[in-house]
Amino acid sequence: MSDPRLPPDEVARLHRRADELLPLGSLLADGGDAPEAWAEALHALADRLGASYPFADPGYLGQMLKPPHPVAWSAYAMAMLLNPNNHALDGGPATAHLEQEAIAAIAAMLGYREHLGHLTASGTWANLEALWVARSLHPDHAVVSGANAHYTHARICEVVGARHEGLPQTADGALDLDALAARLAAGGVGTVVATLGTTALGRLDPVHRIADLCARHGARLHVDAAYGGFFAVIADGAEPGVDPAPFAALARADSIAIDPHKHGLQPYGCGCIVFADPAVGALYRHDSPYTYFTSDDLHPGEVSLECSRSGSSAAALWATLRALPLTRAGLGAELAGARTAALALHARLRALPGWSPVIDPDLDVVCWHADLPTAGAVGAASRRAFDLLAERGWHVALLELPADAIGLEADAPTATVLRSAVMKPEHLGAVDGLADALAEIRPALGDEPRTRRR
Ligand SMILES: *Cc1c(COP(=O)(O)O)cnc(C)c1O
Repeated sequence: MSDPRLPPDEVARLHRRADELLPLGSLLADGGDAPEAWAEALHALADRLGASYPFADPGYLGQMLKPPHPVAWSAYAMAMLLNPNNHALDGGPATAHLEQEAIAAIAAMLGYREHLGHLTASGTWANLEALWVARSLHPDHAVVSGANAHYTHARICEVVGARHEGLPQTADGALDLDALAARLAAGGVGTVVATLGTTALGRLDPVHRIADLCARHGARLHVDAAYGGFFAVIADGAEPGVDPAPFAALARADSIAIDPHKHGLQPYGCGCIVFADPAVGALYRHDSPYTYFTSDDLHPGEVSLECSRSGSSAAALWATLRALPLTRAGLGAELAGARTAALALHARLRALPGWSPVIDPDLDVVCWHADLPTAGAVGAASRRAFDLLAERGWHVALLELPADAIGLEADAPTATVLRSAVMKPEHLGAVDGLADALAEIRPALGDEPRTRRR
């Protein structure tokens, strides 16, 4: 695999930013006469950042990441001139209120009438708080999640001392409802984890049907919407859109994790947890001998597990949502653009000789593989294709799937396929080029065509 490298013009732009940013100095003084060593450090940094994949480019559709919106990083930088701490109103009086407003907007988007929530360092930490609450409410009951759920749930349960049980997934990557129904009927389940937008395939678990099962058996429901949650703004039945049913059922979940640093256009360090019942706040009760003095209002740190948290994250999210509200016309335009690009790529893959998509995408994650008869041959072709595409400036990702889940002769238990997070509206303009590149490299990957399944 080739070393990551930014195109030279992007490295040159980083050097220009170094020259532009340093003179901005601090809130108290411009930095025009900064020591030479400071500028030297930033230029050395620009060179080091050159060893990156070109995350901003339409040709990068690998992992679930993209640079933040210009409003987000500008707002982050502005607030950083103060460096507020959203642990307490003592340390982040302005940004703690911005956080509450941003959380209220997200909770309303998810369908909650009332809520308690806050920003977190990440989706993992948001899920950790949800499962800590799950364990606190039902200490003797299990937390169950599907094989399609994020890998961290089982480990988080270890950390918070909850008993975790895994459930199977269906061949197309959703939580297996029959297995869930049987497990709930057997008793002893406190909380079910559903995933709205799986990390592997972008699959939407049928949250509406899972919520029915949870209600019937008295289990709590946590939805990990870290990746897919913001698609709620285009889950309205209009096109381009996503299936409204699982999103409409979010209001029935006891807690929801959602990552503004994935589809909310934020810099990393911005996850979010919301609970339907504000009374869970009582579980967080603690005293801090250092803080909570300047206001009798609830301080963010009184209802979160983390102590110090970046107030700049809240400022960035708040300003982004002000510029791009949580509507179809606001942030929805970004998500609709990504969805459109993903569907366009999927359509091209279906028509491309020698390649097959894995599933019809629910969101904007598109996975595909070379038409070859065995899991082993498909995996080897995927790894070779990954390199050949990178040489041509196309950056995708790899995904390991159960071989039988994609209908291959299982000479190995898993098959590696190509995976892409088609997260940017600009990806639409890249679809033809990627399809051409796939057609061009296909002969190098072997020629044992098999019958197409789709
Ligand atoms: C990304 C992701 C996570 C983990 O979130 P981080 O912000 O990376 O910690 C959890 N669940 C799902 C479904 C995800 O896609």
